[in-house]
This record gives sequence, structure tokens and C-alpha cells, in this order.
Amino acid sequence: MALDWHQIDRFLMGEAWAGSLIQQHVAELCDVIGPRWGGSPEDRQAAEYIRDQMKQAGLDRAEIEPFTIDTWDHAAVSITLVESGRAIASLPFLRCKPIDIAAPLIDAGYATTHEIESLGDTINGAVVLAAISPEPFTAAEPFTRRLSYLTDAGAACVIAVEPKTGGRMEYSSSDEWLNLGPRGDVVAVVKTSSEDGAYLQRIAGEHPIIRVSVDARFFESEAHNTVAELTGTTHPERHLILAGHHDTVLGAPGGNDNASGTIGVMETARVMTALARELGVRPGMSIRFATWSGEEQRLQGARAYVARHYIEDALEQELKPLLNVNLDELSTGHMKGVVLHFPHLREFVQEQLDTMNDGLKCHVLDHMDAHSDHFPFAEAAIESSILWRWRFWGRHEDANFHHEQWDAANKLNTRELKEYAGQLARLLLRLSYIPPDEWPENPLSVSDVQKMIDRDAGKSHPVFH
Ligand SMILES: [Zn+2]
Repeated sequence: MALDWHQIDRFLMGEAWAGSLIQQHVAELCDVIGPRWGGSPEDRQAAEYIRDQMKQAGLDRAEIEPFTIDTWDHAAVSITLVESGRAIASLPFLRCKPIDIAAPLIDAGYATTHEIESLGDTINGAVVLAAISPEPFTAAEPFTRRLSYLTDAGAACVIAVEPKTGGRMEYSSSDEWLNLGPRGDVVAVVKTSSEDGAYLQRIAGEHPIIRVSVDARFFESEAHNTVAELTGTTHPERHLILAGHHDTVLGAPGGNDNASGTIGVMETARVMTALARELGVRPGMSIRFATWSGEEQRLQGARAYVARHYIEDALEQELKPLLNVNLDELSTGHMKGVVLHFPHLREFVQEQLDTMNDGLKCHVLDHMDAHSDHFPFAEAAIESSILWRWRFWGRHEDANFHHEQWDAANKLNTRELKEYAGQLARLLLRLSYIPPDEWPENPLSVSDVQKMIDRDAGKSHPVFH
């Protein structure tokens, strides 16, 4: 049957706008369920809600896929100046080990190598203050790498100064994202606010005794991915994936990070299913809609899914998707385009975007990026894309909220998310109708990708070109 794209596009954009369930979903995820730490009861509740909504929307298949998560949580955390008894704002880094120590405070500035060298032996056994912001005027080094230097210098504990002001503090991670994998022996890190950090910097010259106490534990739990599918008509055996994580850090309702992406997945699924039901237009290849848990805990949900389905000798091995599109933190402004990990689909995707006539652009990351769930797919040599995140025009202030309690439902932009759902549906439908053997061949093997990861070790946020 010849497809009437004018009619299809009108339907998809109109349905994304007029049939939207965005406000219902964001209220349920952020206000009713609330913070959704992977492996917690709320993670499960979110997964059940998403699965039920996918069923209600009429997807051909909607289920929960549980996996075992290596997780962590914490109870009481404090930083106290021993002599004055003054309490300092505190928040542990994710997966901070338990600690209870009182030692002299040393200010290591930005914890660059030259600052650490100039402090010599004094760092050994001390509580070290370090700014998360990179040192001005020198090449920016990720804080994770600077933590590694402090670990090697023997710091007993690090107090990291939050760059955001006004008492805001977000959960951060001390994992090296890209190169070496998480460093098992990294020093315990507790964050303090920008204001209390500045106070500590003012008094650090006297090396007051400071006590840092973190009650934390590591354990295993069951976490929950959701997977739904709209079966294709011409090539149902091949599939494309649209996905985003539904989990959050502890205590964060996650409006921007990542109810926005989760609902982007749900709404795109809903409008494409409505198109099938009302106009009889189903995708060519199958479209899989997934929401991952454990993104905030080393991408464990997406990793578990890739391991179960796509790697060699996987438990439920199937053909790799031709493309994975990852949605994370969509409260950044309206849709600008698609950013691929690898270059082979660039012109091919751009051609499809051009048929949509909205000025959307296809870009390619200039190095490997492990900051969200696109990465486990890329590691398996699956072409994996994200939408714009860091360097783009028209960025909203809302994009500045993630990993903190103030990333609430009001950080999600309803009308822009409607546009994302309509545009993603238009793009995925177009791509699904191009027969798999007409797609440019993916020349990369898993070992090629591993070489690229080694090559890009320690790089900061990628740029788009
Ligand atoms: Zn996220």
C-alpha cells in the first residue's frame, strides 16, 4: 500500500498534541510515585505503571523484565567541625563507602596535579576539600579523574564543593564514566553546598579537625525494565528501539531526569499505536519501546537488556536493532535533531529528517560518550543515538535540574514534549519502512568499539559537529 505521508504526519502531530497523556503521566511518576531509585519499591511501581499504560495504549506486547541490580543506599550523613560543633551541609556521592573519620581539613583547590603536588604529604590521611568545578584557564579535567589523584595521594575522605548555588546539591558519582570502569578503591566523597564549601575554604588554612560520617550499605536487589512492542508489517523480525530510563537518584522526583524521556517513549508509543488502530498504518519493521531502570547506577538496566538480548550467546539472543534512540533529559528546549554515536547512518538519517521539513539535523558525537543508556548499546556495536543535551542553542534553565530534589514535575515542558513525541513517531515510522538491507552497513565490531573507548578514555562531555 502506498503511504500518504501528509495524512500520516497530520495524524501523528495532531494526536501527539490533542490526545496527550503527558500531564497524567508526569503527575503519576513524579508526584504519586516520586523518587524511583533502581531496585526500590518505587522503581517497581513505576515499571508497573508504564507497562499498564503501554497495554492500555494498545501495544502488541508490554511486559516487565526484571534484573538483579548491584545497588547502594545511605542513612545518616554528616560533616561537623569538631571544635565549634558547627554542622556543614552534606550529601554523599553515589556509592560512597561508609566512613566515620575525624582529621585535619586540607584545601586542595581544584585538586589538579600541580595543586596536589604542592601540598605534598599533608593530603595523606586528611579530609580534603576540593571544588567540583574545573580549574579555570587550564584544560578541564573531569572531577572523577581528580578524585583518582586524591585517592592516590592518600586522602582519607574528600569533601567536594557543589558548583550550584543557593544550597542546592545534586547527587554525583565518583565513577570514571568511560575508560577504566568504576574504580573500586576510590576515596569516600561527600558533597557540601557552594556556600558551606566557601566557608570551609576560608577556614581551611588553620587545618581544623573535621568529622565526616556516612552510614551507607551495598546490596543486591531486583530492578525492573519495561519493554513494549509494536509489531512491524513488512519486516517484523527486525526492530528499532526508542528508550529512556525511568529511574532517578535517591530523593529526586525526576521531572527532567527522566520523566521527560520516559514519557517521550510512552507518548511516541501511544501515537504510533493510535495510527495503526485508526488509519491502519503499522510500522514496517517492529518498533520496541523500552524504559530502563538503574541508569543512575552505572546504566545497569540497559546493560542487562543488551546482555540478555544482543550479545553473542545471550540468553534470549535476537538480531540486533538497526538503531537505538535514547531519550534523557528532554527539558532542554524543543527537538533539534538526532546525535549518532557512529557515522555510518549520518546521511541516511539526515535524508529522512529532510523529508519531515522541520530543519532537524543529524550529528555525530566526536568521541564515545557513556553518560546515558545509549552507551551499553554502542558498546555492543549497535548504532545508538541521543537527542541534544549539552551544547545547543535554545537551552532552558530547566535543563539545569537533575539528580536533586528540585528536579520536580514542573521541570518537564509539556508542549515541547508533545513535539518530541510527534517528531519521533514521524522519524521512526519513516525509518521502519526502509528495508533492512537498504540501510548503510554498520562496519563496526565490538572490538572496534572497544578500541574507540580506549582511545577516548577520560575525555569530558563530547561535542557535536
Ligand atoms: Zn538521566
